[in-house]
Amino acid sequence: MTIKEYVLKRKQELKNIVLSLKRKPSLIIINANEDEASKAYIKGKLKDAKELDIDAKLLQLDKNISQNDLLDIIKQYNDDESIDGIIVQLPLGKHIDEEKIKLAISPLKDVDGFHPLSKLNPCTPQGIINYLKHENITLSSKNAVVIGRSNIVGKPMAKLLLKENCNTTILHSKTTFEDMKFYISHADIIVIAIGKESFLDNRFSYKKDAVVVDVGINRSENGLKGDALKDLPVALQTPVPGGVGLLTRLALYENLIQICKGEN
Ligand code: NAP
Repeated sequence: MTIKEYVLKRKQELKNIVLSLKRKPSLIIINANEDEASKAYIKGKLKDAKELDIDAKLLQLDKNISQNDLLDIIKQYNDDESIDGIIVQLPLGKHIDEEKIKLAISPLKDVDGFHPLSKLNPCTPQGIINYLKHENITLSSKNAVVIGRSNIVGKPMAKLLLKENCNTTILHSKTTFEDMKFYISHADIIVIAIGKESFLDNRFSYKKDAVVVDVGINRSENGLKGDALKDLPVALQTPVPGGVGLLTRLALYENLIQICKGEN
């Protein structure tokens, strides 16, 4: 099933779960930047919420809001029983310590799964695992390579693949090209999240039954491009656009619903 088909199907299932809950789930999205990409992501999140009959609201703040004022607002929503989930849209201005903001959100309302005490996982890696499992892709004992080691994608992705019993390797900007070629040529599952257009290309050799999950979003003159060249000689490659971005959005509402069911 393509990602678009899978997301459509799962959304219908989530809509039914929402209907069975005692009250509508409620989400607050706090935005304190004027970044065009963030605006587009928020628009997508609000659209999904509407489709799922979830009560999602945007609180738009001035980009110069102080860290203390932002922390006060988060505390107010932590204490507000009518709010189930809180998202602070990243990135924030340089004058704000993002780690402090992530830690300020109650782990019980942390839809993004960034808080160390949160039982939920970050949305991009969780969305990817959910899709791979839905497609019956065997993970246990497979060689998984994650390229990129950020806190929001690479590291939690590697952790989840390890939990699925993959032999998991993380590659990064200090990995030599020779090693990169070696690990990629042995990989059954490759997840790339580095923000470099078409980095995975024909310089590398691939197992023909490998799966490539392209997390990268690169805005170029020719539209959105992934970190992998299109049509690599592998069994499955996720597209950009219309790929991991949709899985991330879906996982966000999977997380919110888990919060509402008290499963977090
Ligand atoms: P990030 O915080 O900038 O981290 C990039 C990572 O890539 C770093 O670990 C860096 O290594 C590594 N890297 C950079 N150049 C490399 C190279 N030439 N070879 C190997 N590794 C290299 O990025 P991020 O937040 O994880 O995002 C990565 C990409 O995914 C971006 O394009 C972003 O827009 C996209 N993204 C998409 C979604 C989605 O839902 N589709 C969600 C989140 C992010 P070092 O640690 O050594 O510097």
